[in-house]
Amino acid sequence: MKKVEKVLAFDMGGTKIASAFVEVDGSGYKLSGYKRNPTPKKQADIIDIFVELIGEYRSEYDFDRIGIAIAGQINKEGDTIIYTPNIAMARNFKLGKTIEQKTGFPVSLRNDVRCFAFGEDRFGKFKGHENAVYIAVGTGLGGAIKINGEFFFGKDNIAGEFGHMIIEVGGEQCHCGRKGCWERYVAGPGVEKLYEKAYGREKCAKDIVYDAVRGVEKDRAIMLKASYYFAVGFSNVVNVLDPEIAIIGGSMVKEKKLLRLAMPLIKKEVLPSAKKVKVFNASLGDKAFLLGAAL
Ligand SMILES: [Zn+2]
Repeated sequence: MKKVEKVLAFDMGGTKIASAFVEVDGSGYKLSGYKRNPTPKKQADIIDIFVELIGEYRSEYDFDRIGIAIAGQINKEGDTIIYTPNIAMARNFKLGKTIEQKTGFPVSLRNDVRCFAFGEDRFGKFKGHENAVYIAVGTGLGGAIKINGEFFFGKDNIAGEFGHMIIEVGGEQCHCGRKGCWERYVAGPGVEKLYEKAYGREKCAKDIVYDAVRGVEKDRAIMLKASYYFAVGFSNVVNVLDPEIAIIGGSMVKEKKLLRLAMPLIKKEVLPSAKKVKVFNASLGDKAFLLGAAL
């Protein structure tokens, strides 16, 4: 019988920290004790909440290590956040090392989109492909690349930052310092900006997607525009990497609208040889991030 891995997993975004006790064996997983807490603004408070939550889980569950998914760039060693757009002051934040010192558990940090990819790749409905790309569209847009059966990380562990590929030269300012990045047109804040520019008022991305799905013309027009940008960027990725399969997840595609609108455009934009790529919505939802953090 295969050994069961017992891990306390976290998924930290700009607004919330999700957590669960995860048991993983060769073929399956079990998630227990799911919790959701707001993400504090200060580094010291972030460390405090992790230490507190680890203490709470410890009284109920028996785990050997801790895995944390984070929206941002993580160093190769998996102990430091090099950069995250979501948490103010979080540059070279030694979150992993500090929690290790305070709790005695080994801690590994990992980019959240990579966690999503690992989770889907191991347990999702479309698992087991040798050549795949994973794209998550939420507050930002990130990706992960699998080549010949192995995930590809790059020299500095940042391969797959598709969201910062420029698709509109001289376009919208991105938090990365460049202009016209893909995520500025497809991820939540980018879609909000498209709406504001078109209609002169603000509306949150969640509502834009919701109303577009229900046929409100103004919102549909914005989602059509975002879908066009999605199709252009996605086709670039497919043309470069030639994957068998692409799995798309994240809050912006939960309603499937973005992908459905984008598919005919994608078929036009990809090279003839890339037309056979299979494109699917992710199958595990938010769970994929916690599962990937535990692997
Ligand atoms: Zn950028």
